[in-house]
Amino acid sequence: MHAPSPHGSVGNAPVEDHRADHIAPDCAGQNFYAIDRGLRNLVRLYLDPDDFGRLEPHFDRLGVLAGGRLDERARVADRHPPVLNVRDRFGRDEDWIDYHWSYREMEQIAFGDFQFHAMSHRAGTLGMDRPLPAVAKYAMQYLFVQAEFGLMCPISVTDTSIHLIRKFASAELKDYLLPKMLSGDVATMWKGTQFMTERAGGSDVGAIETTARCEEGEWRLYGDKWFCSHADADVALLLARPEGAPAGTRGLALFALPRRLKDGRRNAYRIVRLKDKLGTRSMASGEILLEGAVAYPVGEAGRGFKQMMEQVNLSRLSHGVRASAMMRRCVNEALVCARGRLAFGKTIIEYPLLRRQLLKIIVPTEQALSMFLFTASTMDRANAGSKEAESLLRILTALLKFRACRDNIPVATGAMEVRGGNGYIEEWVHARLIRDAHVGVLWEGTSNINALDIVSRAVGKSHAHRTLEAALGKLLDEATLVPAAFRDRLRSALDRAIAFAERVAAEPALEESARQVASSLYHIASAILMVWEAAQPGADARRALYARFVLEHRLTAQDPLAPRYGEWERTAEELVFSERQVAIAEVAGLLAM
Ligand SMILES: Cc1cc2nc3c(=O)[nH]c(=O)nc-3n(C[C@H](O)[C@H](O)[C@H](O)COP(=O)(O)OP(=O)(O)OC[C@H]3O[C@@H](n4cnc5c(N)ncnc54)[C@H](O)[C@@H]3O)c2cc1C
Repeated sequence: MHAPSPHGSVGNAPVEDHRADHIAPDCAGQNFYAIDRGLRNLVRLYLDPDDFGRLEPHFDRLGVLAGGRLDERARVADRHPPVLNVRDRFGRDEDWIDYHWSYREMEQIAFGDFQFHAMSHRAGTLGMDRPLPAVAKYAMQYLFVQAEFGLMCPISVTDTSIHLIRKFASAELKDYLLPKMLSGDVATMWKGTQFMTERAGGSDVGAIETTARCEEGEWRLYGDKWFCSHADADVALLLARPEGAPAGTRGLALFALPRRLKDGRRNAYRIVRLKDKLGTRSMASGEILLEGAVAYPVGEAGRGFKQMMEQVNLSRLSHGVRASAMMRRCVNEALVCARGRLAFGKTIIEYPLLRRQLLKIIVPTEQALSMFLFTASTMDRANAGSKEAESLLRILTALLKFRACRDNIPVATGAMEVRGGNGYIEEWVHARLIRDAHVGVLWEGTSNINALDIVSRAVGKSHAHRTLEAALGKLLDEATLVPAAFRDRLRSALDRAIAFAERVAAEPALEESARQVASSLYHIASAILMVWEAAQPGADARRALYARFVLEHRLTAQDPLAPRYGEWERTAEELVFSERQVAIAEVAGLLAM
């Protein structure tokens, strides 16, 4: 088999050059929906059947794009980052950013064809007569990000800005902004963003120094925002301290900052430079100087931080989805390579040591898939008014952001290693996946900040771990096709993880264990979800095997000086790497061993 070129042709190379056969293929040209058994099974499970029926053709269409045109454009856009112009040829401070045509084409797909930013806010996207459920929206994000990560920031932050404006803005501001932001006309629509971080504070939001002054009946902002992704967005939501307001987060108010004033003039702020970033290179992140920029207050002045945290939490969920997507791309690339590369007379997937490496990237990927779909379905229930779901969403979002974004980094590196030296070369996708993976542990809260949020707020203050415990216990009870002995082991791990979380939340001296708590709650939650999913009619039961890998290797003590692999694992591996659907009866014995 010839290795397909990333352009879908073999360029100038002679077509008969059989030396190319030595190079393992990649996923170029594949349908990322069709090849994703886990996603296909689970969206069917988590979506209402009518919605699934209506939306599946769109998942399929996006799967084709993600493995084809979108992927090609993403590769080009990564090589041609945006360029800032600070003045025009007359010397006017008319700052603007030039984007490569490949980025503009991806914008057309995202904001025009699929209307990701509007799909969960209004009817009329993808032929739906009502807004899309969260499960569908995030499944779409997951497919898109397998090709392009950078642009998902502007897409998601436009979506979340719309949410905040709809929820908190005055009727007048809504009338002014929402029709523009909800439009699907890429040429005229207004995109959103969120500027919070300043030099004095990223994690420490209360240290923000930007001030808001009311001058002649208008609010004007003065300050310096240090990290501004989607820097040239048409409207930014940001936090500033009105003069005389108290210090800390209590004194922060939320504002909407338009790029252009109502009369068409530029607002009084400048993008002073763009960041030269490790990843997300297709998207512009800049530094912005606010020089008396006009801004509209959003919601109650004293609740700016709380309101902004709604946007942060929505972004955190999307970040978990993005990490999950990039891990899936890594798995797909690694598997296609492992099945296509020969070494020492065998395909490399035949070597036990390499299979182990593959398992280490497959299991966290499947965990993240289950976690994000369950979290999204919980969001759908919360939006429908369930208080229980609201509490569950609180903790699930933070767990997903914390662990999936961390797992993405070793998974990306592991997939590169499977491809060998070619994985290190920029014309393959791995280098970009590795560069992009790292930002997940920084933006919308670092790992420490998320772990502290889980322990002190979600567990300590909101007691959301109790809701989680009840929800997971119920799922275990429902998974009756899974051997009781295995479910008992999971239940006992759940009890211990919950008790551990409670203890760390109650004892400030145990703060160093916050990340351990976050990881253990994530692992037990994802293991139970996978067991429940495996037990559904028509499900692929290998998910229960993934759950066992999580239980043995993430939630059970191991002797570092003894072999780590149990007898059951060889047989389990055979099933994991088989290319057919696996029935629950085939795995039951392995779970009980
Ligand atoms: C590419 C990129 C794009 C970004 N885009 C945006 C954007 O559009 N809008 C925006 O507002 N921000 C944006 N950010 C900023 C990002 O959210 C911050 O960088 C992040 O929140 C961390 O803040 P900081 O850089 O000030 O680090 P710090 O807050 O100084 O943290 C430094 C280290 O200290 C740790 N730390 C801090 N406090 C504690 C504590 N109490 N206990 C234990 N450890 C602690 C952190 O975990 C971290 O490891 C972006 C960042 C990047 C890299």
